[in-house]
Amino acid sequence: MNNRDNLISIIVPCYNEEHAIPYFYKAITEHSTLMKNEFGVDFEYLFINDGSVDNTLTVLKEYASKDNRVKYISFSRNFGKESAMYAGLKNASGNYIAIMDADLQDPPYMLTEMYKTIIESDYDCVATRRTTRIGEPPIRSFFARCFYKLINRISKTDIVDGARDYRLMTRQMVNAIIDMGEYNRFSKGIFGWVGFNTKWIEYENVERVAGETKWSFWKLFLYSLDGITAFSTIPLALSSILGFLLFIIAFILVFVIIIKTLIWGDPVAGYPSLVCIICFLSGVQMFCLGILGQYLSKTYLETKKRPIYIVKESNKENYQ
Ligand code: UDP
Ligand code: MG
Repeated sequence: MNNRDNLISIIVPCYNEEHAIPYFYKAITEHSTLMKNEFGVDFEYLFINDGSVDNTLTVLKEYASKDNRVKYISFSRNFGKESAMYAGLKNASGNYIAIMDADLQDPPYMLTEMYKTIIESDYDCVATRRTTRIGEPPIRSFFARCFYKLINRISKTDIVDGARDYRLMTRQMVNAIIDMGEYNRFSKGIFGWVGFNTKWIEYENVERVAGETKWSFWKLFLYSLDGITAFSTIPLALSSILGFLLFIIAFILVFVIIIKTLIWGDPVAGYPSLVCIICFLSGVQMFCLGILGQYLSKTYLETKKRPIYIVKESNKENYQ
């Protein structure tokens, strides 16, 4: 019987993880037994099948038939990890909720420290950040670092470099996150935006146990744009600033040309420079229009109020 006062829900987004899930299940159940003995907590494993095209759902159903702690929610198609996490948070029954990847890159042993910290102090959340990026292509690490530097400069929300989605939160904090029903979800920002006391614990990067990463460079790039548009409006101001600077430069140039003509009677010359200037300015204009377009497209999608995910099947009663 589940003791609802002490139930930890583990949310596991899964996309084509048929090979990783058995390892994950073994590791998490072993650790759950340890924690149950030590703290008397119960567990619920909430797997979100994010439109996998392999046998992930079959594997999940198999575990669910043997272990009533295993719950699954299966989407009608792939909606992305952000949607999967949101579905997990909305459907978790526990009063403490953790998010973990299915590939064991989030070590289960850390749950003990997280849980201890949350119950013994007044932290609302214990989150993890990795200190190394071993096993990742160097170019990806480089761009990731640049992204974090940039976004922290242009956004008031604290977005921690190396932060994983692996964290344990209280019900109160999770409710606050659920209330943020925005369509363009960037959880790393949302976690920071809702506030509450977060303790960071660090660990070294672990490589995934089976299968391969679902994030291509392009997907990550688009995700970083989501992050910027969702948590900063500075790029919009950038176009005004650029426009103003160009206006001042043009003003100075006008004076220079008038004076030059008056003193030396310089004939009008400089076709090449004119072409360069025109190209430069159209470049700047297109760039600014692009920024505007980004925000407009996000607003457009947001106003449509489409569901963040669609559930096809689940073994959870009253799933949402
Ligand atoms: N994931 C998902 N939907 C997606 C992509 C990924 O639910 O569209 C899940 C995936 O199954 C894994 C987690 O998100 O459990 C992290 O993905 P991955 O390990 O590929 O990312 P990485 O660790 O390389 O950043
Ligand atoms: Mg991974």
